[in-house]
Amino acid sequence: MSASDTPPTGPSLLTRLLHADRLGRPEHGAVHKPLHVAATYAFPSAGELAAVFQGRQAGHVYSRQGNPTDTALEAKLAMLEGARGAATFSTGMAAVAGVMLTLLKAGDHLVASRYLFGNTNSFFGTLQGLGIGITYVDATDAAAVTAAVTPTTRMVFVETIANPATQVADLAGIGQLCRERGLVYVLDNTMTTPVLLRGRDVGASLVVHSLAKGIAGHGDTMGGAVCETGLYDWRAYPNIAEAYRTGDPAGWGLQQIRKKGLRDMGATLRAEDAHRIATGAETMEMRIAATNANALAVAQWLERQPQVRRVLYPGLASHPQHERARTLFGGRYGALLAFELRPEHDVMTVLDRLRTIILSSHLSDNRTLAIPVAQTIFWEMGAQRRAEMGIGDGMVRLSVGLEPAEDLCADLAQALRG
Ligand SMILES: *Cc1c(COP(=O)(O)O)cnc(C)c1O
Repeated sequence: MSASDTPPTGPSLLTRLLHADRLGRPEHGAVHKPLHVAATYAFPSAGELAAVFQGRQAGHVYSRQGNPTDTALEAKLAMLEGARGAATFSTGMAAVAGVMLTLLKAGDHLVASRYLFGNTNSFFGTLQGLGIGITYVDATDAAAVTAAVTPTTRMVFVETIANPATQVADLAGIGQLCRERGLVYVLDNTMTTPVLLRGRDVGASLVVHSLAKGIAGHGDTMGGAVCETGLYDWRAYPNIAEAYRTGDPAGWGLQQIRKKGLRDMGATLRAEDAHRIATGAETMEMRIAATNANALAVAQWLERQPQVRRVLYPGLASHPQHERARTLFGGRYGALLAFELRPEHDVMTVLDRLRTIILSSHLSDNRTLAIPVAQTIFWEMGAQRRAEMGIGDGMVRLSVGLEPAEDLCADLAQALRG
């Protein structure tokens, strides 16, 4: 190989992630950022105390606004998303609420995907009660989003791969629309993670994560994050308070989310959880490659079973957005799939026969988890909204883990046979 055809140098994302703490020179040369559990921080002078309070100097004042262990995780998340900054929260829902409650006001309008995580859907009902208008659209088509935009629309909210029926939103088309109309584009990237997609590559302004899922992976922690890509110019956004209109306008949104969403609302990530998430994230790329390959194998196997009416997984050629998913996600399709049993098979009875697969509501765990959808996570919203979302009574959601696909198919085979 001559020098001219040497591949471009520079460490890969994985290498940078693994070495991020060490290169940041943590205390005592520790290879991990240590856990900082202090409630408060002391200053050598009143001037420095004031400078940190006024945002003129970086630093920590009180742990409701985060701690150095959170800050180290935020730097890694921003790196993974190619973002200009990140703020962590105690859960993914706290991150979603942090964005909406700090950036929207009564009288504003939000366009949201009709295919939403159940608790996000429920929280959006709370927003409507506060006077925020919401129009739900089929986000697999950017034209439907365009048609819903009104003069008071401030924001568009979509998930990358919807849960449980795996619709893939028109992510790039919506990015273009938001850019043209000056709308804030909030993307929930939980199901895909930066291993499959970086929010900035489809034009997102803010990228939201539940860190408890694929990023942490091990089912032993909770956390959420908001990453600011830097693509949105907040000078045009009416709801940024005067106090946060300081510094680079590309950072005003996160500045307000951090102050109002963390300092005032207090759903802060504990250092212990930030540490677990950061440790889990080190193996994210390998875990996700393995779970996604397993999910594809299980989906293909399920599609051949006579008891199964249909399988929803973006990796299948039969999926309506298969081509879009292939282009957007670099040949991986996530760990989540859903399948629907034929009406003569009772979903609860079939699930009760599972031995390896765990009956649980979580997602993107190392272990494979199954849940009947209509009877649990989408129960509260009622039959009409379920029908709009394409969720039948015989639907099972499967979050595929690291167990070899043969073991999972064997367990499913015995459960389906009865
Ligand atoms: C789990 C999840 C959330 C909420 O995250 P928590 O950490 O459970 O609060 C939000 N969006 C999506 C897509 C999720 O899967």
